[in-house]
Amino acid sequence: MKYKPVIGLEIHAELNTKTKMFCDSLNDPDEKHPNINICPICLSHPGTLPVANEDAVKKVIMAGLALNCQIERDTFFERKNYFYPDLPKGYQISQYQKPLCYSGELKIKSPSTSSGFKAIRITRIHLEEDAGRLYHLPDKNYSLVDFNRAGVPLMELVTEPDLESGEEVRKFAEELQLILRYLGVSDADMEKGQMRVEVNISLMDVSGEKLEVSKDNSHLSPPTPHVSKLGTKVEVKNINSIKFAADAVDYEIRRQTELLEAGEKVKQETRGWDEKKGETYLMRSKEEAQDYRYFPEPDLPPLHFEDADIEDIKSQLPELPQQRRTRFTKRYGLSERYVEIFVVNKQLGDYYEHVASELDSAAKDYHLRKELEGALPDEPHISGKLHSIAANYIITEFPTLTSSLGQELDIEGLKISPEAFAELMVLIFHKELSSTGAKTVLKEMAETGLHPEQIMKEKDLSQVSDISELEASVDKVIVDNPKAVEDYKRGKEASLKFLIGMVMKGTRGRANPQLVEEILRKTLS
Ligand code: ADP
Ligand code: MG
Repeated sequence: MKYKPVIGLEIHAELNTKTKMFCDSLNDPDEKHPNINICPICLSHPGTLPVANEDAVKKVIMAGLALNCQIERDTFFERKNYFYPDLPKGYQISQYQKPLCYSGELKIKSPSTSSGFKAIRITRIHLEEDAGRLYHLPDKNYSLVDFNRAGVPLMELVTEPDLESGEEVRKFAEELQLILRYLGVSDADMEKGQMRVEVNISLMDVSGEKLEVSKDNSHLSPPTPHVSKLGTKVEVKNINSIKFAADAVDYEIRRQTELLEAGEKVKQETRGWDEKKGETYLMRSKEEAQDYRYFPEPDLPPLHFEDADIEDIKSQLPELPQQRRTRFTKRYGLSERYVEIFVVNKQLGDYYEHVASELDSAAKDYHLRKELEGALPDEPHISGKLHSIAANYIITEFPTLTSSLGQELDIEGLKISPEAFAELMVLIFHKELSSTGAKTVLKEMAETGLHPEQIMKEKDLSQVSDISELEASVDKVIVDNPKAVEDYKRGKEASLKFLIGMVMKGTRGRANPQLVEEILRKTLS
């Protein structure tokens, strides 16, 4: 038997609106005191009426547009009825028949396809409200409930069963998370429960798909293509990281394969993820499935959008991760790995862009100066060189810098302004600082926030006293000036002065002249 994993996702994301979905209680995921951000509406006191949060609607449409969805022009909310202690109304206001967004897709990187991408179809994205939170206390025969989260706007995205592995699930969830963050619609932190991924997994028997037609009977009409039927799916919930979602998928693929190979059947059920054991466990079987008795919410008017409304939201979409990848690659000529770092760490990428634009003006100045001096710039692609030096320094030095200051790679907390950083890059480019010198200056910049020139002056780094660097300059001058070397060896002391002068010129006057003389004498003796 040959099985192909078939996986579909249901992903919830809390929207980061100021207030809740149907009332003006604060939507504050960081509120630690229970039952603070509540009101008669989200506690569903009798006689209260919900009012839809326009910002939440807009944020779901933004997500839909970013995911190439169609936007429903006429839609409405529905009641999903069920009883649970975290749901004070006894129903959740949700959308069922007419989700705000439908028929979209998200492309994930996939080495197995010729384009390098695989499109995962998005069935729908709808808007609903979150439930409260239950706290089950160990050793107590009661639980506590916190309604701060009750009524927080929640978008639910459902994919078609287009994914095939834990790895693809990881890529999809990571890219979606990045898109939601770029859009500024959700913080999408899985550990905080702001993004919740549920995976549906089944195995499809594809043994029949490999029908072979031998040469001999190729004149016969081709066999009718074998259409494999989807297998029984298992849903896994209670997953609080993207890695666990991928692990749960891989675990289920193994578990279901073993069942089928042992001649048993996969049962349709909901399972949970035990992160300690790295296993899924049974939560409930299909027999307990509920009928939610959906019906249109009578207390909320239907929603209607004109094309202009959608166009207006579309025009407000920011640059998305994939657009940024393309732009960074083209604009700065960076490697795929570097581009990815700047796309995933958006703030770091923004910082880099700021530095790069400073460097562009520095390069322009340099060209201009050279032109005025009547000399052609010796480096026609100075901007490009500067961009690449800057990317290298940011990516290799910033993590150690920020960790040496006891921080995460948190750009907001960094004392080095993009302007000061660009100045440092120019100094490095002109070799006015050795690489060790540059690292010292950079560390000092991170601690003090001073500009590099100030630090160089203070630390007396402006003068090149680095022996190996001076030796390299001396060697170059010796090779370039054979006549003066000959003369000096024949006893012409003035030629040594000339050679020292050449080293000074080569280091733009930064070399320590005493050291240069010492090295020259030693090398030529
Ligand atoms: P349900 O009615 O059980 O909620 P849906 O048809 O709404 O099922 O699908 C829920 C999710 O499960 C979707 O992401 C869908 O792509 C996925 N799914 C549906 N059928 C299968 C299957 N046979 N194997 C894996 N995933 C599936
Ligand atoms: Mg469903």
